[in-house]
Amino acid sequence: MTFKFWGVRGSIPTPLTNDRLKRKISAIVQRMRPRDLESPSAREAFMADLPDWLFGTPGGNTTCLEVILSDGTHVLFDAGSGLRELSTARLQSDTGPNAYHLFFTHFHYDHLQGLPFFAPAYIPGYTVRFYSPVSGFEDIVRNQMRHPYFPVTMDGFMKGDLSFHELPTSGVIHIGTAVIRWRRVNHPGGAYAYRIEDNGRVLVFAPDVELSDREFERNESNRSFFGSVHSMVLDAQYTLGEAIEKYDWGHSSYSLDVDFAGGWRVRKLYLFHHEPLYEDRKLYRNLQAARWYAARSGHESLEVHMAVEGSVHRV
Ligand SMILES: [Zn+2]
Ligand SMILES: [Zn+2]
Repeated sequence: MTFKFWGVRGSIPTPLTNDRLKRKISAIVQRMRPRDLESPSAREAFMADLPDWLFGTPGGNTTCLEVILSDGTHVLFDAGSGLRELSTARLQSDTGPNAYHLFFTHFHYDHLQGLPFFAPAYIPGYTVRFYSPVSGFEDIVRNQMRHPYFPVTMDGFMKGDLSFHELPTSGVIHIGTAVIRWRRVNHPGGAYAYRIEDNGRVLVFAPDVELSDREFERNESNRSFFGSVHSMVLDAQYTLGEAIEKYDWGHSSYSLDVDFAGGWRVRKLYLFHHEPLYEDRKLYRNLQAARWYAARSGHESLEVHMAVEGSVHRV
């Protein structure tokens, strides 16, 4: 299975501001030497050498992850503003699937605000199945699309074949070639993490979680959810200092994530749900620090990556 990040930012969409863009351009210009401009290949080489925080951005859209299973089934997790990017890309390419399964971790704005812009739901012939363990979630989803919050309703305008599937508070569901499980995690108002197992490969998606002793405990329930994981996409909104200051705000830090994923022997950790206040340079510094910490805290085999909008990964 593969997965693609369509939205990686936490809390609120965070477009690149003029000031932030100007700082990037200014830093690039300062690095240029006359020989970098001598030929097209010299210019290409110069750009290829630029650090990631300058040549690009991790992205400003809120949570949306697309998982493509080994049988080609498309499963989405959360409907943040990144869902609109997916929708636009599919309408332009005309090659996407005509069926989606969409699981919600919870219903904070940053995980729901892209849904009104999800074009496949409006088009007859498309199937969209929604899933959540939250009781009565169909009303939650339908009620956010009505006057005065949005000009059109789901009932009146979403002409695709939509259905809502309320999940038990814990359990298993089979979607295509995958077995998907979920569990409630520590987040204000509650949120769920999902474990997707497909063809022997395992992905855990936990975008909003304040990790606590409960998740670190070596018991059977944790082992069956966090054990034998190949890729883990995890809430890394803060630095450790800020996580302490913002105790009980519902998010984790990159260093705690390294301890957690390393402790559960995860192969690849993806830092996710980036803090809107952090500039790209700080996000990449956090990534560097997370890698440094993993290498020196007994977790050398843990690969640490940054979740970057538009990037595709194999589990
Ligand atoms: Zn969130
Ligand atoms: Zn949240």
